[in-house]
Amino acid sequence: MKRTLRRVALALLAALVLLVAVLLARTLMFTSVQVDVPPSTLAVDGRQIAERLGAAARFRTLSIGAAGSEGAAPFAAMQDWLVETYPRFHQTLKREAFGAGNLLFTWAGSDPALKPVLFIAHQDVVPIEAGTEGDWTHPPFSGRIAPCGDEPGDCVWGRGTIDMKAAMIGLFEGAERLLAQGYAPKRTLMFAFAVDEEVGGAGAKAMAALLEERGVRFEFTVDEGLLITDGMMPGVDVPVALIGLSEKGYTTLELIAHSDGGHSSMPPAITAVGRLARAIDRLQSDPFPRAIDGAVAEMFDRIGPEMGFGQRLAFANRWLLGSIIVDQLAGGTSTNALLHTTQAPTMLQGSMQENVLPQKARAVINYRIHPRDSVESVLARVTRVVADDQVTVRKLDGAVHMDPAKVSSADAEGHRLVEAAIRASFPEAAVASGLFIAATDTRYFGRLADNSYRFHPVRMTAKDGARIHGTDERMRVADLPGLVRFYHHVLEGAGR
Ligand SMILES: [Zn+2]
Repeated sequence: MKRTLRRVALALLAALVLLVAVLLARTLMFTSVQVDVPPSTLAVDGRQIAERLGAAARFRTLSIGAAGSEGAAPFAAMQDWLVETYPRFHQTLKREAFGAGNLLFTWAGSDPALKPVLFIAHQDVVPIEAGTEGDWTHPPFSGRIAPCGDEPGDCVWGRGTIDMKAAMIGLFEGAERLLAQGYAPKRTLMFAFAVDEEVGGAGAKAMAALLEERGVRFEFTVDEGLLITDGMMPGVDVPVALIGLSEKGYTTLELIAHSDGGHSSMPPAITAVGRLARAIDRLQSDPFPRAIDGAVAEMFDRIGPEMGFGQRLAFANRWLLGSIIVDQLAGGTSTNALLHTTQAPTMLQGSMQENVLPQKARAVINYRIHPRDSVESVLARVTRVVADDQVTVRKLDGAVHMDPAKVSSADAEGHRLVEAAIRASFPEAAVASGLFIAATDTRYFGRLADNSYRFHPVRMTAKDGARIHGTDERMRVADLPGLVRFYHHVLEGAGR
């Protein structure tokens, strides 16, 4: 008996030692996958780019169709300025204009057999929320170059400097320099600049439909999306550039509970409002399953090796510690959003009067769909979880219903190119993949492409988050040379 016990104890000990050995070995083998690329030596005068970005920010290109829009005129004026500022670009590329100023440029390559690459940026900006104009350190359409204030150096101040005139200017700068160097692409390069990305993207939709009609199919596309996060990844000391491989889908569902109306002095056991509340409670207590897969798994596989030992051990051993990691990430709203389809009940309606029983109660729930789900699968699951035939679940009329984007390859040539361009232009940054939880114009062009990458070469700290679409949007002058180098590198490689 004693001997058996000792044997069991020994076996357990051996198993434990083996487990620790496996955990450690996996941690040690979990080494950096960052590619070595020589830093770009392209000479860029940050001050000059800042002046151009400032000039672009002075055009009040509020999205066509949005409240406060000044129509097509500011877009036309900005486009005239672009023609003046980037003459080679406009002399060489074919320019097509659609609607209120959507632009499509084609830089014809010498080998028509190669599928083109598409670069996407939007010309429009979101409005300044009424009453907040005075909160800006510098007026929102001043495009002023002035000290950043809370950190060293100068910034270009103004609406659209980050989202996303910086990228638009970067694309023009990169291409203009290549043209000046006598560069002629082998592969056709195209550029799409819409005027209403911020209000649904009708321009991108129309351009994508036209390209589809022409039978155009892209090798890959590059659009805004994830950024270079600085100090936002716990456990990582260096900035992390995230290439978005997919973006979440979107749907809004309407729940309508029914019951008999009447006087509230003789209520039934459960009213329509009670039924609706029960349905919402069932949904909130049974969230969509969380997991690390696809673009998010890719993110941790690439960024894990850059972390401290404890986190490296955890991410190297997701096979064992996956559920602990998921629980940790579920604790923060931004990390939780990466793990599953989120649901946000946003609107409620019951009876119109305090003493009248509602015949109908209505709730609206907004869903951001993880790439493993779809609009239809969300609708089906919600119906199942509500489990009440007196509650109708349906897609809200007039809302956007869009499946998530397919997950692009992190091993394809296009990804390697974007990755190399980041490493050359921002040598201090590590590169990883990611899932974009909002939407871009890529949602329309993505269907025409083998792969779509969502990356905006702009450094972003936690404090900068509120500036996008908010007050005091600004771009650091010191970050502009890297942005131009990025587009120069990626355009040159894409056209090769
Ligand atoms: Zn944008």
